Amino acid sequence: VPPHVASLTPYVPGKPIEEVEREYGVSDVAKLASNENALGPSPKAVAAARDALDGVNLYPDGSAYYLRNALAAKLGVTPAEVFVGNGSNELIELMVRTFVLENEEVLTSAQSFVAYKLAASAQGRTLVEAPMKGRFHYDLDAMKKLLSRKTKVVFIANPDNPTGTCFPERELLPFLDAAPRETLVVLDEAYLEFVDLPGYQDGLALRRKYPNVVVLRTFSKIHGLAGLRLGYGVARPDVVEYIDRVRAPFNVNHVAQAAGVAALRDDEHVAKSRALVLAERPFLAAGLAAVGATVVPSQGNFVLADFPGRPGKQLFEDLLREGVIVRPMVGYGFPTAQRITVGLRRENEKCLAALKKVLGK
Ligand code: PMP
Repeated sequence: VPPHVASLTPYVPGKPIEEVEREYGVSDVAKLASNENALGPSPKAVAAARDALDGVNLYPDGSAYYLRNALAAKLGVTPAEVFVGNGSNELIELMVRTFVLENEEVLTSAQSFVAYKLAASAQGRTLVEAPMKGRFHYDLDAMKKLLSRKTKVVFIANPDNPTGTCFPERELLPFLDAAPRETLVVLDEAYLEFVDLPGYQDGLALRRKYPNVVVLRTFSKIHGLAGLRLGYGVARPDVVEYIDRVRAPFNVNHVAQAAGVAALRDDEHVAKSRALVLAERPFLAAGLAAVGATVVPSQGNFVLADFPGRPGKQLFEDLLREGVIVRPMVGYGFPTAQRITVGLRRENEKCLAALKKVLGK
């Protein structure tokens, strides 16, 4: 086993509802652990997925023709600039696999999305991590200073996971100006649709001036299709073409492709999902602050809440006993913080009531 593989630890996902019900003897569990869509999937996508099941004796369309065309039309780019994957997680991995040589570097921010680190380390590539600004914000100046001729791929999550913080365009531009054109700057916009920050600019518009920008997005959050694993990217056609050479031939399955096309037509579900998060995020944040948490202002569909003096693992377990699944951030450099997905009002209320009880408030 290569040493870089032997030193890895596997990604630990959120606990499944059934397991918590069985282990803790609870029912009506609120799963607020994995930043999923509380409203569920787009109903149009579900209908399309059901219909698509009749065709699963055939391999999927390996070029994802209809999905890439639908994405291109929606985003105002050409299909040649669009690539799709088995979740944007696969696309993160493909960026490293396709473009980073053994002696080159991947640059990101410490305590940002863990998949960047995994993608680099699983492939034995050097990961350079810039410190955060304060505890919770990307420091693009610090990242700028770490750019070198070896930097091949940069991962920037905006909004960030797990902090939920977000930065406006003016903070990003000096970094993009400083990055060599040979360096691919990946703007991971998994939570784009939940942003209401003034001055925020998504990466698509920046691509004209900065052709080395790669935008990654996902159907897992706003469209509610996390279980189907579907992500997409927008990049220069030559970048897309190289990724095409490296990816597995049928990396996006038939059902996911059909559901994705239908989800893109379901503006109503998108609007509802966004409205729910924008309404419930401040409710959840205020409730968390009221039970004594330090709440990081979030632009995602989740909130990072720090409970000083409360070891993360313990509080997580206490909440499980109350039928609430959150995500302790112990392994992520936040030993007393929990990441809590914005749920439906009753789920958020259940979470806040459980916290009140276990914190003795
Ligand atoms: N990027 C960020 C910042 C995320 O938080 C997530 C999901 N946790 C992803 C990418 C991956 O999403 P998916 O693979 O489900 O498309």
